[in-house]
Amino acid sequence: MAYDTDNVFAQILEGKMPAHKVFENEHTFAFMDIMPVSVGHTLIIPKAEAENIFDLENEPGSEVFKTTKKIAHAIQASLKPTGLILTQLNGTDAGQTVFHYHMHIIPVYEKMPLRMHGKEVEDSDALAKTAKTIEQAVKDMDSG
Ligand code: AMP
Repeated sequence: MAYDTDNVFAQILEGKMPAHKVFENEHTFAFMDIMPVSVGHTLIIPKAEAENIFDLENEPGSEVFKTTKKIAHAIQASLKPTGLILTQLNGTDAGQTVFHYHMHIIPVYEKMPLRMHGKEVEDSDALAKTAKTIEQAVKDMDSG
């Protein structure tokens, strides 16, 4: 399948659709998943067009991983999860629903079960609050 330039994450990158941003640099954009499976569920996307792992070039792939590490550390420092899952789905049969490459960061908290993937839209104020917490933790890390 050819990359669909109108997919929802492409629209977010173009500013045509809102997102709760936690971090942005030249190559990547990080924002809250609107249907989080846990508090702090964050998505990291490359700015380069890529549908999945198979058409993602090495350089944007490396940049996504660098940003993923940064946000994972910020989540660890601020939200204090007891575990953290990274997932990345490729193709409809794997469960991919948005066809712009993305890494999920899913914090896990002891005795708090994960919600179902992509089922329940979270309250916008709650997402905004969590995004601010993570964003501040990134700033604190970068300045400290
Ligand atoms: P995947 O199933 O790996 O393709 O994941 C796509 C993710 O994107 C799901 O977890 C959705 O909850 C999330 N999602 C869909 N639309 C939006 C949006 N407009 N803003 C933020 N997250 C979204």
